[in-house]
Amino acid sequence: MSILSVQNVNKSFGGLKALDNVNLEVEEQTVHAIIGPNGAGKSTLLNCFVGRLTPDTGSIVFNGASLLGIMPHEINQIGVARVFQTPEIFADLTLLENVMIPALATRDGSFSLQLWSRMDCQPDIREEAEHVLRDVGLIEQKDVIADSLSRGDKRRLELAMCIVQHPKLLLLDEPTAGMSRADTNDTVALLRRIGEERRITKIVIEHDMHVVFSLAHKISVMSQGTVIAQGEPNEIKGNPKVQEAYLGGAH
Ligand code: ADP
Ligand code: MG
Repeated sequence: MSILSVQNVNKSFGGLKALDNVNLEVEEQTVHAIIGPNGAGKSTLLNCFVGRLTPDTGSIVFNGASLLGIMPHEINQIGVARVFQTPEIFADLTLLENVMIPALATRDGSFSLQLWSRMDCQPDIREEAEHVLRDVGLIEQKDVIADSLSRGDKRRLELAMCIVQHPKLLLLDEPTAGMSRADTNDTVALLRRIGEERRITKIVIEHDMHVVFSLAHKISVMSQGTVIAQGEPNEIKGNPKVQEAYLGGAH
């Protein structure tokens, strides 16, 4: 069954057609990779899923509800979380605080300073945050200030901040960008484990083909704003249109 259904989505920036009649179905509890050359429209599409951009035409339906015309925080509340290309964390706070904030916000609908002052009196929230930090391998550093983390660990922290919200759908824009091979392999293992245990559907935009082929159940290939191929990894590997899009460096 589809958890996300994208139909005939178009989005232009001035004269540039960034999304040109995009159609995409994401099956529940799968990892769906979106690949394609730079400028293909991948991030634009993801931005439409989280309400940062609104398509000019078309429909995006998540879990039976239209995502068009609703605010980013509302999309978040109905179960869509996103890991950004550059980690968005609270640099001056500890790891534990960083994870407790979205946990509190998810439970109480919104976050306020009043909640913040009560954070110490929320043992269940603290416990859950610690549990998630353990899951991503950062529990030893829970009292460390987030800014001091390595780039790879910041991304892990951001992932923890997402999964503590219990999303149904997790969007990852180049989760291994800039990582060493060792950090990349750790991230792949972590994403796989989190998906299986927590039954989260994932959409991953990724350049690293090693990551794509070791994680994805389905792959959509974008080029010049359209989906040019869609299928299982072994179907995509041998697809001549895909090879052409990459080799031709379509822009
Ligand atoms: P990808 O993520 O596949 O590399 P993007 O979705 O970022 O591609 O970009 C698709 C096209 O849309 C590119 O040509 C890019 O320059 C353009 N674009 C993206 N965002 C904007 C924007 N906010 N304003 C104008 N042009 C944009
Ligand atoms: Mg991008």
